[in-house]
Amino acid sequence: MARAYNFSAGPAILPESVLREAAEEMLDYKGTGMSVMEMSHRSKVFEEIIENAEKTLRELMGIPNNYKVLFLQGGASQQFAMIPMNLMKNRVADYVNTGQWTKRAIAEARMYGEVNIIASSEDRTFSYIPEVKDLKISDDADYVYICHNNTVYGTKYNQIPEIGDKILVADMSSDILSEPVGVEKYGLIFAGVQKNVGPAGVVVVIIREDLITEDVLSGTPTMLRYKIHADNQSLYNTPPAYGIYICGKVFKWIKDIGGLEAMKKINQEKAGIVYDFLDKSRMFKGTVVKKDRSLMNVTFVTDSQELDAKFVKEAKAEGFENLKGHRTVGGMRASIYNAMPLEGVKALVSFMQKFEEENR
Ligand code: PMP
Repeated sequence: MARAYNFSAGPAILPESVLREAAEEMLDYKGTGMSVMEMSHRSKVFEEIIENAEKTLRELMGIPNNYKVLFLQGGASQQFAMIPMNLMKNRVADYVNTGQWTKRAIAEARMYGEVNIIASSEDRTFSYIPEVKDLKISDDADYVYICHNNTVYGTKYNQIPEIGDKILVADMSSDILSEPVGVEKYGLIFAGVQKNVGPAGVVVVIIREDLITEDVLSGTPTMLRYKIHADNQSLYNTPPAYGIYICGKVFKWIKDIGGLEAMKKINQEKAGIVYDFLDKSRMFKGTVVKKDRSLMNVTFVTDSQELDAKFVKEAKAEGFENLKGHRTVGGMRASIYNAMPLEGVKALVSFMQKFEEENR
């Protein structure tokens, strides 16, 4: 059986060893006679699965004790509402607009309060990250919001905004666990797991304890209150149990590789191979300002849409899947998340070289 080189932006490639292990445990998880999909989320066995997942994640990211880890549902998109509902005490928040996913977050937050866009890269099609210094932070802002890695445009923050003592909230859906982050610099980090961690349906929220309060906007549904999930260790209702189980395996896989420092080195090497090629190529070019390039989503174009389409089509025929850029921007995008093997990246670049020679 041949596995495709899957460059999808999400749901995305997962480590083969994790999938094999899950397959082996599918019918009988550790002598229980059932799969993790079939067991009670209140059982001892599942309790151990979720506790171990959290423990490994805490180790990997160095999550301080005064932060809670929550495994929620609703996709990353639900956080766009949950964040203002829980954190907008003054009904004011500052957002940095770096593309599609901050636009969605901004639109959602505007339903609950005043949103100030304190910086934006829309003027150049989101091909860069705005200056992080001298931002005009609103005095009464309840928090400052960024998207740490922009899946659609392929940009990433290498330095986080300077925001004084304000609370920083970050969407890390497309780069969580790709490299170390100083969790203590953030009030809240969230990520839909379907890119770098596991199957769609789980959202990881890492939130500082003092931000978890009863004081939420009136009308906030029970399920959208961080406190209810924190008080119940993510087991207020039935959690996405199977997804959490796979996330736990992926956390362990990263730990076995050597943790986030090791993961970062591998990711830099992989992304470096593609970017080096793009910088030398006479046909392909990267679309993002060099200093803001993502390690996870590499976006590029040729000088014609016809050639882009030909490339995507021929790449697919060779087993390179999902290289088409996001439907709103066109061009190409190779998402090279943690689980994309080095050989996959090398094979892609060889194919690009060959394509360039044949279509000169
Ligand atoms: N934020 C980012 C950075 C994303 O890439 C995505 C999904 N592509 C989302 C949010 C939305 O995630 P979901 O589909 O889980 O709601």
